[in-house]
Amino acid sequence: MENCIFCKIVKKEIPAEIVYEDSKFSVFLDISPASKGHCLVVPKEHHKDIFDIPDSMLKEMSLMIKKTANTVKNALKADGINIIFNNGRSAGQLVFHIHAHVIPRYEKDNALVYTVNKPHVSNEQMQEIKLKILSSF
Ligand code: AMP
Ligand code: ZN
Repeated sequence: MENCIFCKIVKKEIPAEIVYEDSKFSVFLDISPASKGHCLVVPKEHHKDIFDIPDSMLKEMSLMIKKTANTVKNALKADGINIIFNNGRSAGQLVFHIHAHVIPRYEKDNALVYTVNKPHVSNEQMQEIKLKILSSF
């Protein structure tokens, strides 16, 4: 996809700190890491987001994410790992080529990796929301 920064990284048209690649995936360090070792797992094929990617590719991607999480945890002696997908501008997606954030966490690292502004949702609203989602599966 033209003008896609991650397609350019995958094709080596622009540099990145690549830690792993095979025929289907590239894994590289996030240029603005939330913690030490923050990696992005990126399929080489261009798909925009979770709504766009074929199931078969997402299944393979999940295995790549697991492998990356294990490797990073061991290599950097992390205590835990956050795995984050942002899908859509409202969800904070900035690069519209699907990627998973694999963010190693260390005790008391104070990394801010998810929103702390949680809305109040009443029990009544919870029930309404539950029904809407439940009946749409
Ligand atoms: P998202 O908000 O989920 O779309 O995340 C995009 C991520 O890509 C951000 O964490 C950026 O820091 C990262 N990023 C943007 N450009 C580059 C780049 N050239 N190399 C590595 N990471 C990048
Ligand atoms: Zn792309």
